[in-house]
Amino acid sequence: MNGRRKLGVMGGTFDPIHHGHLVAASEVANRFDLDEVIFVPTGQPWQKGDRAVSAAEDRYLMTVIATASNPRFTVSRVDVDRGKETYTVDTLRDLAEQHPDADLYFITGADALASILTWQDWSELFELAKFVGVTRPGYELNIDHLADFLRDYPEGTVTMVEIPALAISSSECRRRAGEGRPVWYLVPDGVVQYISKRHLYVPQDSAS
Ligand code: ATP
Ligand code: MG
Repeated sequence: MNGRRKLGVMGGTFDPIHHGHLVAASEVANRFDLDEVIFVPTGQPWQKGDRAVSAAEDRYLMTVIATASNPRFTVSRVDVDRGKETYTVDTLRDLAEQHPDADLYFITGADALASILTWQDWSELFELAKFVGVTRPGYELNIDHLADFLRDYPEGTVTMVEIPALAISSSECRRRAGEGRPVWYLVPDGVVQYISKRHLYVPQDSAS
């Protein structure tokens, strides 16, 4: 619309980034004709307090490695550098300030969208970005309870998009790496190598 750039925003813990994230971003970019998708690794993570999350720098670097070959994919440090628990509203505020000439499209999987819309103030979020929820194997997204609320907003405020199903999760990648099982083809090759080089996900006493 009116020459404004269209930027996708893909937030995540990315511990590690995997092909499910990349397919989601690529699919939404194509569907919405986005100029760029910015991947935004979280700072101190949102709702993951029950487990140790890898260092933000490791997650940031894996995201850079995974997206390096795609000219339309970039990585932002806004959440990593803010250095506290990440709230989507802060991510979107910072990116909106950095890109005043752009419309933002926040891309999330069905599970994450449900939790964002449960915990955060929708009205502010919807003023900052359009939301694109992508299908994810194992999760149902029911946004019917939003229907009344969304009536006050323009069409396209929240859109659900069906994407090729990849039943990959970072949790499963961590479990596999921790057990010495392969993560090849679940994550980009460079990320496999980075995990191994940094001994990520290996129980402390067996890391050398
Ligand atoms: P974890 O298992 O640690 O929660 P994850 O695989 O869910 O990791 P996140 O970093 O939590 O990865 O997810 C970032 C975003 O990517 C979220 O919006 C999530 O819903 C979405 N996402 C993750 N995996 C997939 C997938 N396989 N298909 C579609 N969307 C996905
Ligand atoms: Mg997750």
